[in-house]
Amino acid sequence: MADARRASAILSTQSKWVNGTVLHYCFFGAGSHFSVPKIQADAIRGAFAKWKAVKIGLEFQEVSQLSEAEVRIGYSTADGSSASAVGRDVLNVPLNEPTTVYGWDLTTSYGSGTALHELGHVIGMEHEHQNPFAGIKWHEQAVYDALAKPPNNWDHDTTYHNILEKLTPQQVQGSTWDPDSIMEYEFEPGLIDEPEQYDVHGLTPPGTLSPADKQWALKWYPPLQAALMTLQPFQAVTLDLAAGEQLDFAIKPTSSRKYTIETKGASDTLLVLFEDINGVPRYLSGDDDSGENRNARITYKLFQGRTYIVRLRLYYPGLSGKTSLMYS
Ligand SMILES: [Zn+2]
Repeated sequence: MADARRASAILSTQSKWVNGTVLHYCFFGAGSHFSVPKIQADAIRGAFAKWKAVKIGLEFQEVSQLSEAEVRIGYSTADGSSASAVGRDVLNVPLNEPTTVYGWDLTTSYGSGTALHELGHVIGMEHEHQNPFAGIKWHEQAVYDALAKPPNNWDHDTTYHNILEKLTPQQVQGSTWDPDSIMEYEFEPGLIDEPEQYDVHGLTPPGTLSPADKQWALKWYPPLQAALMTLQPFQAVTLDLAAGEQLDFAIKPTSSRKYTIETKGASDTLLVLFEDINGVPRYLSGDDDSGENRNARITYKLFQGRTYIVRLRLYYPGLSGKTSLMYS
């Protein structure tokens, strides 16, 4: 992309959910290779509750059908690895596959950190040890050798992708390294060359949500506003948003018909439509025009007497700095 600031803004926002999304999660059941034992499922439910206790605007709701879940959680000590798709990338995982797998006991104190870590990926967080600001220099061969052993059994590419590869500044939580982050791995002595203290003592993060983790989650997913401004048909509202920010509106149609909800201007946006069903937003449709020379646009039949919510997350405002939103 010719405009580096635009590309950078898109990269930092693209895996995040719109705030206010209800993420439905489901555990693989008995008989599946990924069947989650109840005691492990309870540990993962506890981890969802700890993330929600940060008072983020995302909701987590357990459902009993895998086909109704954006987040499909599996467990396999035979596979022995724990991993998850990051943020909205879970939507690209085939529906019969887990988006998030756990490979070891989550009821230990180390395991409770793992339970939280994979859910950090689910809400859009990347690995903290891959933060380019960390200044970590690795004993690379020692890292490959250590991760090739149980419990990880990783091949060369997996270790490179999960540990050694540096992220871009836009993909990480902050401009300084947070060794206490839940997204930081534990490393034994001899793997990190610099900073020297970790070579000698290893790195053992506490396995809990650090202050910076909570700050990151609240930046992307702040508590929701109680009352929303209602969009009026044929009346464009001009939005003054910075990159990454979100605004929400209510729509209360006065007749039942197909409507079009669209942005104007050169901005890049993620536009998502929900129906408010007894206070619970249910996803209807979305459009993401980031990196494309067109506007986000949703056409959907709306019904008189119902309430809808439109959430608009701005990637990049474009040169004018203005975005407008209208439904008609
Ligand atoms: Zn991870």
